[in-house]
Amino acid sequence: MSTPFATRLTVIDDMTLSVECRCGHAALIGVVDLLERYQGNTMVSEVLPALACSRCSRRGSFKHVRIVFMLPEHRALAHAHAAEMRVVGT
Ligand SMILES: [Zn+2]
Repeated sequence: MSTPFATRLTVIDDMTLSVECRCGHAALIGVVDLLERYQGNTMVSEVLPALACSRCSRRGSFKHVRIVFMLPEHRALAHAHAAEMRVVGT
């Protein structure tokens, strides 16, 4: 069985992660923003445990995670929301 989200960041550098914490807090995280912190060969599945919810502080505990494509003009909006889900740890 393949690991969910065994996808390298560099392969999806024009995509956005749409995540929703178990507390209901949702956030959009541009993969391009993750690439400022992670190597391109890092798997999405390795990044998820390091994402902490800015509302409840749970880490890596999501109702859903989706990899979505956003138009460039919408991606700017996603970046504005990126701070809502903090990237912590390594
Ligand atoms: Zn939360």
